[in-house]
Amino acid sequence: MPDGAAPRPAVIHARGFVARHFTRAAICSFLLLAAIAGAPNTAHAWGCEGHQVIALLAESHLTPRALAKVKQILSDSPIDPTLSRYCKEGGIDLMSDSATWADDFRTQHPETGPWHYIDIPLGTTRRDIAKFCEPQEGCVTRAIADQLVILRSPETDPRKRADALRFVIHFVGDLHQPLHATTNNDQGGNCVPVAYFDILPQLRNPQAESYAPNLHGIWDTNILARATNGKNVEQVAADLDRSFHKKIARWQKGATNIDAWAWESYQLAVKDVYGKLPVRIPAEAPQPITSCADDNHISTRMLNLNERIAQPYQDTAEAIVWGQIAKAGARLALLLNQIWP
Ligand SMILES: [Zn+2]
Repeated sequence: MPDGAAPRPAVIHARGFVARHFTRAAICSFLLLAAIAGAPNTAHAWGCEGHQVIALLAESHLTPRALAKVKQILSDSPIDPTLSRYCKEGGIDLMSDSATWADDFRTQHPETGPWHYIDIPLGTTRRDIAKFCEPQEGCVTRAIADQLVILRSPETDPRKRADALRFVIHFVGDLHQPLHATTNNDQGGNCVPVAYFDILPQLRNPQAESYAPNLHGIWDTNILARATNGKNVEQVAADLDRSFHKKIARWQKGATNIDAWAWESYQLAVKDVYGKLPVRIPAEAPQPITSCADDNHISTRMLNLNERIAQPYQDTAEAIVWGQIAKAGARLALLLNQIWP
Protein backbone atom coordinates (compact mmCIF):
# COMPACT_ATOMS: atom_id res chain seq x y z
CA MET A 1 0.00 0.00 0.00
CA PRO A 2 1.46 3.40 -0.96
CA ASP A 3 1.99 6.09 1.64
CA GLY A 4 -1.06 8.22 2.13
CA ALA A 5 -3.51 5.35 1.66
CA ALA A 6 -6.43 5.46 4.04
CA PRO A 7 -5.64 3.88 7.41
CA ARG A 8 -7.84 0.96 8.42
CA PRO A 9 -9.04 -0.03 11.85
CA ALA A 10 -6.10 -1.42 13.80
CA VAL A 11 -8.07 -4.33 15.20
CA ILE A 12 -8.66 -6.02 11.86
CA HIS A 13 -6.27 -8.92 11.41
CA ALA A 14 -3.93 -7.61 14.07
CA ARG A 15 -1.60 -10.51 14.62
CA GLY A 16 0.26 -11.69 17.68
CA PHE A 17 -1.61 -9.19 19.76
CA VAL A 18 -1.19 -11.10 22.94
CA ALA A 19 1.85 -13.17 22.18
CA ARG A 20 4.37 -10.36 22.26
CA HIS A 21 3.67 -9.96 25.95
CA PHE A 22 4.25 -13.61 26.72
CA THR A 23 7.91 -14.33 26.30
CA ARG A 24 9.83 -15.26 29.41
CA ALA A 25 7.31 -13.67 31.71
CA ALA A 26 4.75 -16.21 30.58
CA ILE A 27 5.03 -18.00 33.88
CA CYS A 28 3.34 -15.16 35.68
CA SER A 29 0.45 -15.33 33.26
CA PHE A 30 -2.28 -14.33 35.63
CA LEU A 31 -0.62 -11.19 36.96
CA LEU A 32 0.67 -10.33 33.54
CA LEU A 33 -2.76 -10.67 32.01
CA ALA A 34 -4.13 -8.19 34.47
CA ALA A 35 -1.29 -5.81 33.66
CA ILE A 36 -1.69 -5.97 29.89
CA ALA A 37 -5.45 -5.89 29.77
CA GLY A 38 -5.36 -2.56 28.01
CA ALA A 39 -2.38 -3.24 25.75
CA PRO A 40 -2.73 -2.33 22.08
CA ASN A 41 -3.15 -4.91 19.34
CA THR A 42 0.21 -5.25 17.68
CA ALA A 43 2.34 -8.09 16.37
CA HIS A 44 5.81 -9.40 16.78
CA ALA A 45 6.16 -12.61 14.81
CA TRP A 46 8.98 -14.54 16.44
CA GLY A 47 9.09 -11.97 19.24
CA CYS A 48 12.16 -9.78 19.69
CA GLU A 49 14.61 -12.66 19.91
CA GLY A 50 13.46 -14.46 16.78
CA HIS A 51 13.69 -11.39 14.55
CA GLN A 52 17.06 -10.42 16.02
CA VAL A 53 18.47 -13.92 15.50
CA ILE A 54 17.32 -13.89 11.87
CA ALA A 55 19.09 -10.57 11.30
CA LEU A 56 22.29 -11.76 12.98
CA LEU A 57 22.29 -14.98 10.97
CA ALA A 58 21.75 -13.10 7.72
CA GLU A 59 24.46 -10.62 8.60
CA SER A 60 27.06 -13.35 8.94
CA HIS A 61 26.25 -14.52 5.40
CA LEU A 62 26.29 -11.16 3.63
CA THR A 63 28.90 -10.37 0.99
CA PRO A 64 31.40 -7.73 2.20
CA ARG A 65 29.72 -5.23 -0.14
CA ALA A 66 26.22 -6.00 1.08
CA LEU A 67 27.35 -5.78 4.70
CA ALA A 68 28.97 -2.39 4.12
CA LYS A 69 25.89 -1.07 2.28
CA VAL A 70 23.50 -2.30 4.98
CA LYS A 71 25.54 -0.64 7.71
CA GLN A 72 25.82 2.58 5.75
CA ILE A 73 22.11 2.79 4.88
CA LEU A 74 21.04 2.08 8.45
CA SER A 75 23.53 4.40 10.11
CA ASP A 76 22.91 7.28 7.66
CA SER A 77 19.17 7.26 8.50
CA PRO A 78 18.80 6.04 12.08
CA ILE A 79 15.51 4.93 13.61
CA ASP A 80 13.45 7.88 14.85
CA PRO A 81 14.53 8.20 18.51
CA THR A 82 11.01 9.27 19.52
CA LEU A 83 9.52 5.98 18.24
CA SER A 84 8.48 3.77 21.15
CA ARG A 85 10.41 0.49 20.84
CA TYR A 86 8.79 -2.70 22.07
CA CYS A 87 12.09 -4.59 22.22
CA LYS A 88 13.53 -2.43 24.95
CA GLU A 89 16.95 -4.06 25.04
CA GLY A 90 17.26 -3.25 21.32
CA GLY A 91 19.26 -5.36 18.94
CA ILE A 92 22.91 -5.90 19.59
CA ASP A 93 23.82 -4.03 16.43
CA LEU A 94 22.18 -1.88 13.76
CA MET A 95 20.83 -4.72 11.64
CA SER A 96 19.35 -6.75 14.49
CA ASP A 97 17.91 -3.61 16.08
CA SER A 98 16.30 -2.82 12.71
CA ALA A 99 14.70 -6.27 12.61
CA THR A 100 11.93 -5.29 15.03
CA TRP A 101 11.34 -1.74 13.80
CA ALA A 102 8.44 -2.61 11.46
CA ASP A 103 6.29 -3.78 14.38
CA ASP A 104 6.88 -0.51 16.24
CA PHE A 105 6.26 1.51 13.07
CA ARG A 106 3.00 -0.35 12.56
CA THR A 107 1.65 0.99 15.83
CA GLN A 108 1.91 4.50 14.35
CA HIS A 109 0.95 3.36 10.85
CA PRO A 110 -1.82 0.77 11.15
CA GLU A 111 -2.22 0.76 7.38
CA THR A 112 1.01 -1.26 7.27
CA GLY A 113 -0.52 -3.98 9.51
CA PRO A 114 -1.57 -6.31 6.67
CA TRP A 115 1.95 -6.19 5.24
CA HIS A 116 3.06 -8.57 8.01
CA TYR A 117 1.13 -11.66 6.86
CA ILE A 118 -0.82 -13.38 4.11
CA ASP A 119 -4.11 -15.10 4.90
CA ILE A 120 -4.08 -18.38 2.97
CA PRO A 121 -7.19 -20.17 4.26
CA LEU A 122 -6.55 -23.49 5.98
CA GLY A 123 -7.77 -26.14 3.58
CA THR A 124 -6.43 -24.41 0.46
CA THR A 125 -4.93 -26.98 -1.88
CA ARG A 126 -4.00 -24.89 -4.92
CA ARG A 127 -0.94 -22.70 -4.73
CA ASP A 128 -2.32 -19.41 -5.96
CA ILE A 129 -0.70 -16.93 -3.60
CA ALA A 130 -1.72 -13.76 -5.45
CA LYS A 131 -5.38 -14.67 -4.90
CA PHE A 132 -4.91 -14.32 -1.14
CA CYS A 133 -3.14 -10.97 -1.22
CA GLU A 134 -5.73 -8.26 -0.53
CA PRO A 135 -5.57 -5.87 -3.52
CA GLN A 136 -6.08 -2.73 -1.42
CA GLU A 137 -4.43 -3.61 1.87
CA GLY A 138 -1.53 -5.70 0.60
CA CYS A 139 0.13 -8.68 2.25
CA VAL A 140 3.58 -9.84 3.28
CA THR A 141 4.63 -11.32 -0.07
CA ARG A 142 3.78 -8.16 -1.96
CA ALA A 143 5.27 -5.96 0.77
CA ILE A 144 8.62 -7.74 0.44
CA ALA A 145 8.57 -7.37 -3.36
CA ASP A 146 7.54 -3.68 -3.14
CA GLN A 147 10.16 -2.79 -0.53
CA LEU A 148 12.89 -4.57 -2.53
CA VAL A 149 12.02 -2.35 -5.50
CA ILE A 150 12.27 0.76 -3.30
CA LEU A 151 15.54 -0.49 -1.80
CA ARG A 152 17.11 -1.09 -5.21
CA SER A 153 15.93 2.08 -6.93
CA PRO A 154 18.61 4.76 -7.44
CA GLU A 155 15.84 7.37 -7.12
CA THR A 156 14.97 6.45 -3.53
CA ASP A 157 15.93 9.03 -0.91
CA PRO A 158 18.09 7.78 2.00
CA ARG A 159 15.31 7.80 4.62
CA LYS A 160 12.94 5.75 2.43
CA ARG A 161 15.77 3.39 1.52
CA ALA A 162 16.54 2.75 5.19
CA ASP A 163 12.84 2.13 5.91
CA ALA A 164 12.64 -0.26 2.94
CA LEU A 165 15.65 -2.18 4.24
CA ARG A 166 14.14 -2.40 7.73
CA PHE A 167 10.85 -3.63 6.26
CA VAL A 168 12.62 -6.34 4.24
CA ILE A 169 14.65 -7.51 7.26
CA HIS A 170 11.46 -7.83 9.29
CA PHE A 171 9.04 -9.19 6.69
CA VAL A 172 11.32 -12.03 5.56
CA GLY A 173 11.21 -13.13 9.20
CA ASP A 174 7.42 -12.79 9.43
CA LEU A 175 6.93 -14.78 6.23
CA HIS A 176 8.69 -17.75 7.79
CA GLN A 177 6.37 -17.87 10.83
CA PRO A 178 3.84 -20.44 9.55
CA LEU A 179 0.91 -18.64 11.19
CA HIS A 180 1.74 -15.51 9.20
CA ALA A 181 0.86 -17.46 6.06
CA THR A 182 -2.45 -18.98 7.01
CA THR A 183 -5.76 -18.41 8.72
CA ASN A 184 -8.79 -20.46 9.67
CA ASN A 185 -11.12 -17.49 10.29
CA ASP A 186 -9.04 -17.25 13.46
CA GLN A 187 -6.63 -14.39 12.70
CA GLY A 188 -3.77 -16.80 12.10
CA GLY A 189 -4.37 -18.78 15.27
CA ASN A 190 -4.89 -15.70 17.46
CA CYS A 191 -8.45 -16.94 18.08
CA VAL A 192 -7.38 -20.44 19.12
CA PRO A 193 -7.00 -20.44 22.93
CA VAL A 194 -4.53 -23.07 24.12
CA ALA A 195 -3.10 -24.19 27.41
CA TYR A 196 0.68 -23.92 27.17
CA PHE A 197 2.16 -26.35 29.70
CA ASP A 198 0.75 -25.07 33.00
CA ILE A 199 -0.55 -21.73 31.67
CA LEU A 200 -4.27 -21.94 31.08
CA PRO A 201 -6.02 -19.71 28.53
CA GLN A 202 -7.57 -16.61 30.07
CA LEU A 203 -10.06 -14.23 28.52
CA ARG A 204 -8.16 -11.08 27.70
CA ASN A 205 -10.66 -8.92 25.88
CA PRO A 206 -14.32 -9.89 26.52
CA GLN A 207 -15.62 -7.81 23.63
CA ALA A 208 -13.19 -9.21 21.07
CA GLU A 209 -13.37 -12.63 22.77
CA SER A 210 -9.58 -12.92 22.64
CA TYR A 211 -7.59 -15.25 24.88
CA ALA A 212 -4.01 -15.81 25.95
CA PRO A 213 -2.16 -18.01 25.54
CA ASN A 214 -3.32 -18.76 22.02
CA LEU A 215 -1.88 -20.71 19.11
CA HIS A 216 -0.43 -17.70 17.31
CA GLY A 217 1.16 -16.36 20.45
CA ILE A 218 2.95 -19.53 21.39
CA TRP A 219 4.39 -19.76 17.86
CA ASP A 220 5.51 -16.13 18.02
CA THR A 221 7.32 -16.39 21.32
CA ASN A 222 6.68 -19.14 23.89
CA ILE A 223 7.99 -22.09 21.88
CA LEU A 224 11.19 -20.24 20.99
CA ALA A 225 11.67 -18.82 24.50
CA ARG A 226 11.36 -22.30 25.98
CA ALA A 227 13.73 -23.73 23.36
CA THR A 228 16.44 -21.08 23.82
CA ASN A 229 16.35 -21.55 27.56
CA GLY A 230 17.87 -18.21 28.48
CA LYS A 231 20.61 -18.09 25.81
CA ASN A 232 21.22 -14.66 24.34
CA VAL A 233 20.50 -13.90 20.69
CA GLU A 234 24.16 -14.03 19.67
CA GLN A 235 24.56 -17.52 21.13
CA VAL A 236 21.35 -18.69 19.48
CA ALA A 237 22.43 -17.29 16.10
CA ALA A 238 25.88 -18.88 16.41
CA ASP A 239 24.38 -22.25 17.38
CA LEU A 240 21.96 -22.16 14.45
CA ASP A 241 24.73 -21.16 12.07
CA ARG A 242 26.69 -24.23 13.15
CA SER A 243 23.88 -26.74 13.15
CA PHE A 244 22.35 -25.57 9.85
CA HIS A 245 25.64 -24.83 8.14
CA LYS A 246 25.11 -27.12 5.13
CA LYS A 247 21.46 -26.24 4.70
CA ILE A 248 22.16 -22.51 4.94
CA ALA A 249 24.65 -22.85 2.09
CA ARG A 250 21.99 -24.62 0.04
CA TRP A 251 19.22 -22.13 0.87
CA GLN A 252 21.50 -19.28 -0.13
CA LYS A 253 21.87 -20.81 -3.57
CA GLY A 254 18.13 -21.34 -3.92
CA ALA A 255 15.82 -19.37 -6.16
CA THR A 256 14.27 -16.15 -4.92
CA ASN A 257 10.65 -17.15 -4.99
CA ILE A 258 8.76 -15.29 -2.30
CA ASP A 259 5.43 -16.92 -3.18
CA ALA A 260 7.01 -20.37 -2.85
CA TRP A 261 8.39 -19.40 0.57
CA ALA A 262 4.89 -18.35 1.67
CA TRP A 263 3.46 -21.64 0.42
CA GLU A 264 6.11 -23.55 2.36
CA SER A 265 5.10 -21.70 5.53
CA TYR A 266 1.45 -22.42 4.80
CA GLN A 267 2.17 -26.13 4.33
CA LEU A 268 3.98 -26.27 7.67
CA ALA A 269 0.97 -24.60 9.28
CA VAL A 270 -1.35 -27.23 7.82
CA LYS A 271 0.83 -30.26 8.53
CA ASP A 272 2.34 -29.37 11.88
CA VAL A 273 1.03 -26.17 13.49
CA TYR A 274 -2.62 -27.20 13.17
CA GLY A 275 -2.01 -30.81 12.10
CA LYS A 276 -0.17 -31.87 15.24
CA LEU A 277 -2.55 -30.27 17.74
CA PRO A 278 -3.84 -32.74 20.32
CA VAL A 279 -7.43 -32.08 19.19
CA ARG A 280 -8.02 -31.83 15.44
CA ILE A 281 -9.30 -28.47 14.17
CA PRO A 282 -11.36 -28.74 10.97
CA ALA A 283 -11.00 -26.15 8.22
CA GLU A 284 -13.68 -23.47 8.52
CA ALA A 285 -15.52 -22.22 5.43
CA PRO A 286 -13.46 -19.05 4.74
CA GLN A 287 -15.06 -15.76 5.74
CA PRO A 288 -13.61 -12.39 6.69
CA ILE A 289 -13.57 -11.74 10.42
CA THR A 290 -12.75 -8.64 12.43
CA SER A 291 -12.49 -10.20 15.89
CA CYS A 292 -12.48 -13.58 17.62
CA ALA A 293 -16.20 -13.08 18.29
CA ASP A 294 -16.94 -13.51 14.56
CA ASP A 295 -17.58 -16.75 12.67
CA ASN A 296 -20.05 -17.83 15.31
CA HIS A 297 -17.69 -17.06 18.21
CA ILE A 298 -14.70 -18.86 16.76
CA SER A 299 -12.53 -18.44 19.87
CA THR A 300 -15.22 -19.84 22.19
CA ARG A 301 -15.70 -22.80 19.87
CA MET A 302 -11.92 -23.36 19.83
CA LEU A 303 -11.68 -22.90 23.60
CA ASN A 304 -14.18 -25.72 24.01
CA LEU A 305 -11.78 -28.07 22.19
CA ASN A 306 -9.53 -27.73 25.24
CA GLU A 307 -6.21 -27.78 23.33
CA ARG A 308 -3.35 -28.53 25.72
CA ILE A 309 0.17 -27.94 24.44
CA ALA A 310 2.74 -30.12 26.17
CA GLN A 311 6.17 -31.60 25.42
CA PRO A 312 5.31 -33.74 22.36
CA TYR A 313 3.94 -30.69 20.52
CA GLN A 314 6.78 -28.49 21.79
CA ASP A 315 9.36 -30.97 20.40
CA THR A 316 7.84 -30.93 16.91
CA ALA A 317 7.36 -27.18 17.01
CA GLU A 318 10.92 -26.47 18.14
CA ALA A 319 12.36 -28.30 15.15
CA ILE A 320 10.18 -26.25 12.82
CA VAL A 321 10.94 -22.97 14.56
CA TRP A 322 14.70 -23.58 14.31
CA GLY A 323 14.45 -24.56 10.66
CA GLN A 324 12.29 -21.58 9.73
CA ILE A 325 14.48 -19.07 11.56
CA ALA A 326 17.62 -20.47 9.94
CA LYS A 327 15.90 -20.43 6.55
CA ALA A 328 14.71 -16.85 7.02
CA GLY A 329 18.27 -15.75 7.88
CA ALA A 330 19.73 -17.51 4.85
CA ARG A 331 17.10 -16.13 2.50
CA LEU A 332 17.37 -12.60 3.85
CA ALA A 333 21.10 -12.78 3.08
CA LEU A 334 20.27 -14.17 -0.37
CA LEU A 335 17.99 -11.21 -1.16
CA LEU A 336 20.47 -8.60 0.04
CA ASN A 337 23.43 -10.28 -1.67
CA GLN A 338 21.51 -10.19 -4.94
CA ILE A 339 21.32 -6.41 -4.65
CA TRP A 340 24.96 -5.98 -3.62
CA PRO A 341 26.91 -9.04 -4.87
ZN1 LIG B 1 5.63 -8.37 11.96
